[in-house]
Amino acid sequence: MMNLHKLILTENACYKAGRTITVKGIMVHSTGANNPNLKRYVGPNDGLLGENQYGNHWNTYHPGGREVCVHAFIGKLADGTIATYQTLPWNHRGWHAGGSANNTHIGFEICEDGLTDYTYFQKVYREAVELCAYLCKEYGLTEQNIICHSEGYKQGVASNHGDVMHWFPKHGKSMDTFRAEVKALLATDTKEDTEDIAEPVVTYPEKLTSGYYRVRKTWKDSKSQIGAYRVLANAKVAADKNPGTYVFTNEGVAIYPTDGTSETGTDDYRIHTVVKGDTLWDIATLYLGKGSRYLEIKTLNGLKSNVIYSGWKLKIPN
Ligand SMILES: [Zn+2]
Repeated sequence: MMNLHKLILTENACYKAGRTITVKGIMVHSTGANNPNLKRYVGPNDGLLGENQYGNHWNTYHPGGREVCVHAFIGKLADGTIATYQTLPWNHRGWHAGGSANNTHIGFEICEDGLTDYTYFQKVYREAVELCAYLCKEYGLTEQNIICHSEGYKQGVASNHGDVMHWFPKHGKSMDTFRAEVKALLATDTKEDTEDIAEPVVTYPEKLTSGYYRVRKTWKDSKSQIGAYRVLANAKVAADKNPGTYVFTNEGVAIYPTDGTSETGTDDYRIHTVVKGDTLWDIATLYLGKGSRYLEIKTLNGLKSNVIYSGWKLKIPN
């Protein structure tokens, strides 16, 4: 599944220009140079990218003297695994199309290799499909809003480049297969969401006539009790004011914060509500001080991929 990281190219003149766009589409590019390593374009080394000994990555004012910057790169990390690096805020105006698509489209580059390695192609192609599905969901787009650079040229919104059609067909793919796969992935995701929503939701009375809602750290630890309330809303306020505490029913079932409690109420963690632009890496950096600890968040929340969506409530280890 998509392996999304974030390293914003803050030294690039494009970033410094600070213009934003209303995202209406996505443009797929490939680099046109035989170098599949992300460190060629993304830097400085964050420990995963590896060292770019030439220092010619794009986190510089005018990379190679050119006004260029894209929203993301897909390629190889130092250990050879495939990753996506977000390099501009998604709604930032990028310099990727050489035409008016810069005003409407998110643009990302797939790092090319020698164009003959099927295994590498398959991995980065799939990564790109997943990135596009993710962005479609974030910005309310469909697969129809995705074009490659050469299609953009034909539509008059981009400069005359051949990417990605000099590469995809070598491995039996095209932008049509690409869009079809994004569409299929979006359909799967929607199905999963529907199943999530369909899970039974237990509601509790707003006001009890017998017994109490108790606010404690754990049910067993009665000494940690902040208070006992007839009115659920008041109990929630007390729990909000006292991090690490939960609202328990009269039977000892933790019911609030909703996503943050186990049956026994013995877990101890914080909740982060995902907002647009968040990545697991960012969240791990924010709460745990180290981006690489995102794996702990993944495990705790039982996530199968690194893709997260606005509104999700993630448990954060303490
Ligand atoms: Zn291009």
